[in-house]
Amino acid sequence: MTGAPRRWEDVDGATRRRLDHYAALLLTRNAAFNLTAARSPAAVEEHVRDSLTLLPYVRDPLIDVGSGGGFPAIPLAIATGYAVTAVEAVAKKVRFLRATAAELGLNLSVVAGRAEEAARRPDLRARFGSVTARGVGGFATVLELTVPFLAIDGLAVLQRGRLADAERTAGADAALMLGAALVGEYRAIPESDQRRIVLVRKVSPTAPRFPRRSGVPAKRPLGGARHG
Ligand code: SAH
Repeated sequence: MTGAPRRWEDVDGATRRRLDHYAALLLTRNAAFNLTAARSPAAVEEHVRDSLTLLPYVRDPLIDVGSGGGFPAIPLAIATGYAVTAVEAVAKKVRFLRATAAELGLNLSVVAGRAEEAARRPDLRARFGSVTARGVGGFATVLELTVPFLAIDGLAVLQRGRLADAERTAGADAALMLGAALVGEYRAIPESDQRRIVLVRKVSPTAPRFPRRSGVPAKRPLGGARHG
């Protein structure tokens, strides 16, 4: 067991100060580099809290696909101390993530490039206890971009809106093709039904043909799901 906090409310003062430091860096650099749609302190705070709703589910080591300005990778790295890897395709975001990791002394390594290619690296494929990906695409697309990184028994911890039945069914089919299974769906916060955390467990190795080449998981999602 590690001593990682399980909820936002359990986060200690020193951790909150580091989260605030991250928020300040993001707001400052965002003005010049357009790193996230969150442009006010309140909006950034909301994204930090949303990221920390994953605390009860994530495991060490963690990989986050499509980290952008750092959600949820950086709040989770700060709050857990886990070894976190962030995969991001856009160079200016990679530079921000690396600079932030250095400034805050985080246990965060940043992989520049697309998840479709990173997932073929032997040091990254099937290596992680959990994977996150927030705002990266439709459910089946995100499954193809995340499950290959998981070790057997690892968990994809995915923030979704309320899943429509068709999206859930396509996702379940996609998970099966990738060697995984849907194991739970929870409210991100008790007061609202609009945001869900979907848990997907890796049960067998992902076939070498997944993920398909860059762009295909989004263009032709597994399970026949429609784009988006
Ligand atoms: N997770 C962040 C950013 C969401 S925007 C947040 O919640 O705020 C989606 C990000 O994923 C963008 O920064 C985009 O560059 C990145 N991205 C999308 N597809 C990707 C892929 N296949 N591989 C790596 N990064 C990807």
